[in-house]
Formats: sequence, C-alpha cells, structure tokens
Amino acid sequence: MVLMVFSGKITAQQGFTWRPEHTQDWTNPPRVVTPGESARPPSDAIVLFDGTDLSAWQHADGSEPRWTLGNGFVTTVPGAGNIQTRRVFGSVQLHIEWRTPTDIPPQRTGQARGNSGIFLQSRYELQVLEGYNNPTYSNGMVGSIYKQTAPMVNASRRPGEWQVYDIFYFAPEFNGRGELLSPARITVIHNGVLIHHNTIIQGNTEFIGLPNYEAHGRLPLILQAHGGGPVDYRNIWIREL
Ligand code: MG
Repeated sequence: MVLMVFSGKITAQQGFTWRPEHTQDWTNPPRVVTPGESARPPSDAIVLFDGTDLSAWQHADGSEPRWTLGNGFVTTVPGAGNIQTRRVFGSVQLHIEWRTPTDIPPQRTGQARGNSGIFLQSRYELQVLEGYNNPTYSNGMVGSIYKQTAPMVNASRRPGEWQVYDIFYFAPEFNGRGELLSPARITVIHNGVLIHHNTIIQGNTEFIGLPNYEAHGRLPLILQAHGGGPVDYRNIWIREL
C-alpha cells in the first residue's frame, strides 16, 4: 500500500482503509518561535529600532540618520530626508509603532497633519497620517496603500497616542525578463483592527499618475520624512517570511 503526503495532497489506492494516523502530517514541523511579551519582539525578529539607537538605519546616500532621537522614540525631521534600513528585505512581518503630534496648528489640514509613511521594499507606501477627525482623500488617509486602496475602516487613535501597525507583506515576483508574475500583497492590522486583508498592491505608490511595477529584488524598508510631519516612531521589529 502506497500512501504519500506531499504538500497536503494525499493519495491512496482504491479500497484502502483509512485510519486517523494516515492523515497526520509529521513532516516539516513549523519551527518554534518564542512570542514577545506585550508587543516586545519575538525570538526570531530583527530589531530595527529599540528606542535607543538608529544603527540599523541610514539615509539614501549612506549617511547617518539626521532624525531626532527622543526618550525611547525617534522623530522624523522633514528636511532631513527619508531613512532606510541598512538591510534589504523581501516578504516580511513588520511591527511598528508611531504617533502624530498634538500641536499641529488647525490651519494645517489633510495631508499636512502628521504625514509620514512606511515604504515596503522602498516602493509601496502604507500611509502614516493623523486620522482622527482629519478629512482627506480616502486612498491617502491613514492606513491607505497610498493613492491605491483605502483601509477597510478608520481605526485611528487620537493625536499624541501611540498607534500600532502589524503588517504582513508578500513581495511581488518577477520572471527573468522582468515581467510581473504576481503582485505584492499586504495585510495590515491597525491598533488591533484589520484594515487590509491580502490587498493587492498595484505597483509603486505614485504621488502623481498611476501605479506601475518595475522588477526588483530585496530592498530596504523606508520611513518617510514628509513636510507634513513630524511623526514619532518606536518599537520597530521585522521578521523575514
Ligand atoms: Mg506619507
């Protein structure tokens, strides 16, 4: 009697008498990961920022980050430019905490209130923005895939309160000729609320014009220094998938 288990596909000859153990898969047990305590990094995470140093980050030209290190957090400096990880990544789980300021003057509205962003693979922006009573275009609001897809709901906390994104990102795939085989996909939990479930990313999140794909491999994670900032970040960790 031949019984084979490959990728969940089970085959058996006609007349085979099934027993419970025949459908038990003991191959390739998922490896053990120790979860972190209350949003602390799990055992296999790469800690990108623990609140004390920015050694995992640089500007695009390779210079040291000129963002402001606070007591356990770092603050965007709009004129200083984006920061990016020194490491490059493909598909990842990313945990990142952020907050927008309480002292933005009321005449600044929409995209000018606490704007930053998280660029997966340097190209695909998950918007960071004040989202509490701050109207703007839906596909540019907090939790949007910028200029593509609005979040399912607005799960924003008030300015000055720490917010959390838990992101599950699967990189796009390209063939040897640079043609898109499968687009990037993203699932996002914002403050414990699902706002994207396997959302297809349509290409680079362009400020002007339509999204497009260009073939690429592993790339840094970028945090945006936008003129509509500042924004604080803390407790950033990532797991490669
Ligand atoms: Mg932004």
